[in-house]
Amino acid sequence: MQQRQPHPSRDGLIPVSEKESFAFDCSRAVSCFNACCRNLNQFLTPYDILQLKNHLGIGSGEFLEIYTSRHIGPETGLPVITLQPKPGAERECPFVTTSGCAVYPNRPSSCRIYPLARVVSRCRRTGRFAEHFALIREPHCLGFQQNTRQTARQWLQSQQLHVYLEQNDRFLEIIGLKNRLAPGPLDLRSRHLFHLALYDIDAFRDHILCKGLLADRPLSAEIIKRLEADEMALFAFGHRFVAQQVFGKDRGP
Ligand code: SF4
Ligand code: SF4
Repeated sequence: MQQRQPHPSRDGLIPVSEKESFAFDCSRAVSCFNACCRNLNQFLTPYDILQLKNHLGIGSGEFLEIYTSRHIGPETGLPVITLQPKPGAERECPFVTTSGCAVYPNRPSSCRIYPLARVVSRCRRTGRFAEHFALIREPHCLGFQQNTRQTARQWLQSQQLHVYLEQNDRFLEIIGLKNRLAPGPLDLRSRHLFHLALYDIDAFRDHILCKGLLADRPLSAEIIKRLEADEMALFAFGHRFVAQQVFGKDRGP
């Protein structure tokens, strides 16, 4: 099943529980095939970037430079990364081809989850995230006219979303911390550290292991070995680093 990321209009959102079924299918057989990979407005999470740069076999810095644009949230000062469309009026995704998505196994989370949207809120009592889903019904998407039915839960499983959502929730935690502990625009240093640790993981590793980023807080040999060898450990470390060093949560990594 091929899935594409359209450009959601909030108007077409229909709340759906995980157990509710809906008709949807997307494949080369639909006449709108690839239509939603144009007019790109595609945000990338840190985990999306990690998966895409590994799919392409390049470093995070090279990936960011070639395939993305960086924006700064006007009120938050937070760096935001979007996919850079191909040149031309159609603003096509850099990964769309006539036969579909060239990075399909590692496509971004928002491409995977369509036609669902996920809204996350934090429970004040338990501190846990609660998630809610909605269908994004867009008139141009003929996927809704297909006969295949599935529940929202089945859709999430079929698109292998659980690992993406779990890793994206780390990022949501960071955004929540920012809102709570550091309201207002970030200063330049904080922006740089946020971008480095969350989006540019290969440069972050280099800064820690070779450029003395944490020289004032030496890491144990065991932790250094782990950060060198295990990219997901480094990814989690980057989120802790931002929580602590940028937003002041607890004392240090
Ligand atoms: S990453 Fe793939 S599925 Fe997502 S917009 Fe680009 S071509 Fe389409
Ligand atoms: S069916 Fe919908 S998701 Fe699939 S290519 Fe067409 S517009 Fe995109």
